[in-house]
Amino acid sequence: MARAKVKGGMGFRGVSDFNKALLGKNCWRLLTGEESLMGKVFKSRYHPRGSFMEAKLGFLPSYAWRSIMSVREVITKGGKWRIGNREKVRIWHDNWLPSVSNPCVKSQVKILHQDDFVSTLIDQDTKQWNKDLIFSVCRLPVDSFLWNGEKDSTYSVRSAYHQLGVDRRKDLPGSSHDPNDKLWKEIWRVNLPNRIKNFIWRLAKNILPTRGNLCKKGLKIDSVCPLCFNEVETSQHLFMDCNIAKLTWFSSSLGLHVPQNSSLNNWLLCWLKRKDTLGTQLFCSILWKLWFFRNQVVFKQLSPSPPDIAIAALNFVDEFNRTVPRQKKQRQNHNAASPVVHRAHTIRVDAGCFSEGFTPFGCVFKDSSGNIYFSACKKERDFRSHSS
Ligand SMILES: [Zn+2]
Repeated sequence: MARAKVKGGMGFRGVSDFNKALLGKNCWRLLTGEESLMGKVFKSRYHPRGSFMEAKLGFLPSYAWRSIMSVREVITKGGKWRIGNREKVRIWHDNWLPSVSNPCVKSQVKILHQDDFVSTLIDQDTKQWNKDLIFSVCRLPVDSFLWNGEKDSTYSVRSAYHQLGVDRRKDLPGSSHDPNDKLWKEIWRVNLPNRIKNFIWRLAKNILPTRGNLCKKGLKIDSVCPLCFNEVETSQHLFMDCNIAKLTWFSSSLGLHVPQNSSLNNWLLCWLKRKDTLGTQLFCSILWKLWFFRNQVVFKQLSPSPPDIAIAALNFVDEFNRTVPRQKKQRQNHNAASPVVHRAHTIRVDAGCFSEGFTPFGCVFKDSSGNIYFSACKKERDFRSHSS
């Protein structure tokens, strides 16, 4: 849950990492502002002869100092030195090379002392780093520490928190490649309300409380699908293999046949990647409505028909697009291979039988905007009473 949304999580902040990132702000202040009151106090107590980066924990450290020292590594990993007068930066211990992946010197210490500063690298013959005249006239800026996570090279809690998450996931086995990486990115791009995106995310994570999943958790319940009573209710069955689902997909405006030998997540990714925005919206809404009507069956003992589910999804998308202005220009792809979503015209019919022997019936035709363009009604004598 604490992972970023594009990494398959919900973007919640982990308390531990966020606390470290906040403490890192104090480290940054001590590193870049040794002349501040806080910097002077800590320097006089814990590192009177060296810099903050060389400081040790010391004898009987305060709680504040221990906390700051515990996250100093966040700063050293996420930043590097900019060379100025070369009086602060040590050749082998500090990050000062321009490369982001290899910011420190890794060669063996052979000639110079391991604690020598970058200033000792000045070539006396070529004068490229030790031009006495220039140093005597010009005053170079002091070495300064740069933060890699922001464009202005200044520490931010947000980027430090992100860096901590990246570092931790590097240590996890199998974390280098998530086959669903593309899926997580696409889910949150769909132009639908967040509650539907959240539902799609739970579906892709296979954490919906289907009967199959509840049984895996140890609940003693009947695991059979409540719609068809034929198989165990898994996400794959409920949204693809169940007859009710198949009828719903086919009766929808998408007119889909459920693909064989395809996982639900693969099918979902195919639709999320389409440039047919309206089709993607409808696809996701049908999934959502399938789950909604499944719950109606389970908890309210209702029995909606597949066309009802398809029409409910279509009406929802239509209403959403009319009430919520598009933030981005809709990308429509009129590829002949992609199904075309037609706006539905609605035909409502009704009839009744009366004890007097008459059967009235009527119909109403509505266009996609809900305007009635045809209606009719008639009353006929009931054939049963007529034949008797
Ligand atoms: Zn079923």
